Amino acid sequence: MSAYADFHRRSIEHRDEFWAEQSGLVDWHTPPTQVCDYSNPPFARWFVGGKTNLCHNAVDRHLNQRADQVALIAVSTETDTERTYTFAQLHAEVQVMASVFAALGVKQGDRVLIYMPMVAEAAFAMLACARLGAIHCVVFGGFASGALASRIEDAEPCLIVSADAGSRAGKVIPYKPLLDEAIAQSKHKPTAVLLVDRALSAMNLAAGRDHLWAQMRQQHLGASIPCTWVDATHPSYTLYTSGTTGKPKGVQRDTGGYAVALAASMKYIYGGKAGETYFSTSDIGWVVGHSYIIYGPLIAGMATIVYEGLPTRPDAGVWWSLVEKYQVTVMFSAPTAVRVLKKQDPALLSKYNLSSLRALFLAGEPLDEPTAQWISESLGKPIIDNYWQTETGWPILSLCNGVETAKSKFGSPGKPVYGYNVKLLDDQTGAELTGPNQKGVVAIEGPLPPGCLQTVWRDDARFVNTYWSSVPNKLVYSTFDWGIRDEDGYFFILGRTDDVINVAGHRLGTREIEESIASHPNIAEVAVVGVADDLKGQVAVAFAVVKDASGLADAAAYLKLEAEVMKVVDQSLGALGRPARIRFVSILPKTRSGKTLRRAIQALCEGRDPGDLTTMDDPLALQQIKDALVK
Ligand code: AMP
Repeated sequence: MSAYADFHRRSIEHRDEFWAEQSGLVDWHTPPTQVCDYSNPPFARWFVGGKTNLCHNAVDRHLNQRADQVALIAVSTETDTERTYTFAQLHAEVQVMASVFAALGVKQGDRVLIYMPMVAEAAFAMLACARLGAIHCVVFGGFASGALASRIEDAEPCLIVSADAGSRAGKVIPYKPLLDEAIAQSKHKPTAVLLVDRALSAMNLAAGRDHLWAQMRQQHLGASIPCTWVDATHPSYTLYTSGTTGKPKGVQRDTGGYAVALAASMKYIYGGKAGETYFSTSDIGWVVGHSYIIYGPLIAGMATIVYEGLPTRPDAGVWWSLVEKYQVTVMFSAPTAVRVLKKQDPALLSKYNLSSLRALFLAGEPLDEPTAQWISESLGKPIIDNYWQTETGWPILSLCNGVETAKSKFGSPGKPVYGYNVKLLDDQTGAELTGPNQKGVVAIEGPLPPGCLQTVWRDDARFVNTYWSSVPNKLVYSTFDWGIRDEDGYFFILGRTDDVINVAGHRLGTREIEESIASHPNIAEVAVVGVADDLKGQVAVAFAVVKDASGLADAAAYLKLEAEVMKVVDQSLGALGRPARIRFVSILPKTRSGKTLRRAIQALCEGRDPGDLTTMDDPLALQQIKDALVK
């Protein structure tokens, strides 16, 4: 048995012993008395009895040895600014933010919603929540008012932290009006809003509710706010993710299990060491941002780069220039970004000295072989694909080179990571598929390892019904991804089993987009499908039926309607949710029982055979889809 196979086996067969060892990678105020309580499956409680604090582990505990070492590097190629903070400075800033939060009424267990661009203050806000034992809910800055409002309603934050604006490709995107609109739409109202003014866009302040960070920071400079020691099982944050219904789910994460999982992953997967620099190009609005921009690198005593901007501005060498400048050893990005870079001048890659870089990790969507091959040859560095989900918080499949060096196979994110008892199951019978190259649903036997979601925020039933009930006759966690395992034990991910699509590494629920489109007064019905795209992996394409076609005399009228509907989506979900096209048909293909045949539509869009259509209600509907595609 290879050293890694034995490591993985031990993590499953001697689970408690294994994770008790890993728990030594973080500081505890009170050590746990029980490693894993799985007496109420599928709810797992990790490190029961232990008390710790994420901010302590990310910041305070490094002060003895590395107070003057850089901890945070905030780079914006949008505003041409670079700010660096040592661990001592980060400690001071986080305490000021925590003190401001406390003054605005934030207490342990309260929710603080963070709707921020990629600026240092966003990191301070997350860490300040952790310091106080408050629960942060970061909402991606690219979401618009509708998506934000539904998250405010679900999270019920007492405080929202935001900014005047973000910026993308040099274009200022005001956040404040979107936030005001979201608060107006939401039934829940926060008591306070704290605003970072970047002087990008004027803000109207609501008296009594809105506060300016710069002013409050001044009043709280030098504040000393100790870490609140919380139970290991205390929720550290919720992060919303799309599913098959229109209502996003609040993935709830604990504190102790998450700290241990991240610390272990930095050692065994990412190979990041204290004193080095980690650069993840994600956004704090996504799970990668939580785990590998903020907490993971800082817990490991590394400097982390918070980057605002595109990979191609001022030119496509910008990321590599940062690698050289800050001696980045570990980099983490997404396949889409690499596909974007592939279209640019290759000389920009060899212009910089990348000798510090040990590996580039890619995740979030399938990594196609040509992209992997290209970046691997261009960089001359190992490319490590890793597969995981918002729900798990850290990789399910990867190579664990910190345990034993393994060969990458292009197209495969590797093997099950320690702690994950990964199975491939027949979707109809739930039977385990043990042979090579058999296609099944990727499932994980409980308990999920530390760091994975505890439950869905305030909805235990949804947690059980969504994730643990889809495989017949078995209480297993479904990833809703198809996969196969080859004869060497490497997994390959073959796409989702549900109606979730992946656009540029971001998960979108087709239902959410459909609901948004259907809110236009002249849309009767709509189906959204994910269609393969060279750059983004997938794009959303919508097929809509109008209520009243009398005013739609020609193609120009339909184009106008398409633009109007796009605007509705922009305003409710944001540009991220905007479909590539909205095509108009007079009927959608459905089964006789009324279920929209999304897979058949998707197949037609991708030029494939739509499959078995014997259950179809009206065969003419498919012809309409075909016709709409050539229009
Ligand atoms: P999210 O929770 O938004 O990160 O999306 C998770 C989903 O993205 C997974 O269920 C997969 O469908 C897909 N995904 C993430 N990483 C990979 C990967 N390395 N290879 C293939 N698909 C991936």
